[in-house]
Amino acid sequence: MINVASPVIGKKERQLIKEVLDSRILASGEYVLQFEQSFARYSGVDFGIASANGTAALHTALLMCGVKQGDKVATTSFSFIATSNSILFCGAKPVFVDIDPKTFNIDPAELEKVLKKKKNIKAVLIVHLYGLSCDMDAILKLKKKYKFKLIEDSCQAHGAEFNNKKVGSFGDATAFSFYATKNMMTGEGGIILTNDAKADIYGRQLINHGREGHSTHTVLGYNYRLTNLAAAIGIAQLEQLESWIKKRTTYAENYNEAFKDLDFLQTPYIPKNCRHVFHQYTVRIPALEREKFIKYLADNGVGSGIYYDTVLYKQPLYKQLGYKSGLCVEAEKAACEVLSLPVHPSLSKTDTDKIIKVIKGYKNEYTNCRNRSRIFGTAPRKNFGTAQ
Ligand SMILES: *Cc1c(COP(=O)(O)O)cnc(C)c1O
Repeated sequence: MINVASPVIGKKERQLIKEVLDSRILASGEYVLQFEQSFARYSGVDFGIASANGTAALHTALLMCGVKQGDKVATTSFSFIATSNSILFCGAKPVFVDIDPKTFNIDPAELEKVLKKKKNIKAVLIVHLYGLSCDMDAILKLKKKYKFKLIEDSCQAHGAEFNNKKVGSFGDATAFSFYATKNMMTGEGGIILTNDAKADIYGRQLINHGREGHSTHTVLGYNYRLTNLAAAIGIAQLEQLESWIKKRTTYAENYNEAFKDLDFLQTPYIPKNCRHVFHQYTVRIPALEREKFIKYLADNGVGSGIYYDTVLYKQPLYKQLGYKSGLCVEAEKAACEVLSLPVHPSLSKTDTDKIIKVIKGYKNEYTNCRNRSRIFGTAPRKNFGTAQ
């Protein structure tokens, strides 16, 4: 079976891990500092604070932006649960915004509607989903007009760019994840980036029990530190990141070309001013067809994944908090139609050729079916967006 995700682990990772073990400094240490600086520099941001995972990074980033009990934070309705949970950790209330059906990212026009209607939005937490930057021109315009704090959830978008600028360099604070299946990993791990020196100092306190100096604790902090062992892996991984992104992009471009005429499948849209890093290669399949297609892929040795099969506010936890279905129409449709195919750098050309062949083989089955409307069901073509 060709898996939908698989980390690459090279010689350098093993060598640096051995160095850390030999040094006997396993918790915070020199490798953490080096990793923070390298990753911040790579992203074009002044400061980096390594953290235990991406979720801790999100929580810390929100606190660094002053989000507190009772505040409202606008965010996308279509992401991993950690995005909106981090808002709840602060005692704040997520205000869910619909997505642009072409990019799967927060729709700036919908965001403005929310900002107009609810005057007291303290912060906006955007997500660069699947490795594609949000529309930063539109979002920064809104930031100027409505004066909110901007936090970027860049957990899927290491190295992604908007107008030749890396994600993570736009917001007041940004969170990245180095979970095992992300574009680069440290097993578990994360980092918060900011250009604000004061926020950096506060963030460092937050991830380290609120410590100031040696043994004084002035704020309520957490143990969100990254280990030296994890940072060593991160240093080695960062050196490979660009070559892996190139591989992902090549595979994605090959898929786009191979699938462009398949009428049961909509390939990802890539805006001209964006560098998509393809954390996921996500297509749309008509809702009524998806289960059958997944089974067909699996029967032919191709793994796939649904990210995500429900919008955030329809998760049981959020239903208990009083959120109702039907709030964000495009996000709910996307949840029924998305499917991610293997695009990671451990794949060989033989693997991706096989994936293309298998998927093109499905077209025949589909074309032979006499009743198309039954297959497409209620998902109208226009929801597939327009391919560029
Ligand atoms: C992975 C991910 C997170 C959480 O990161 P962890 O390191 O798993 O805590 C948050 N948001 C998004 C969009 C993610 O993909």
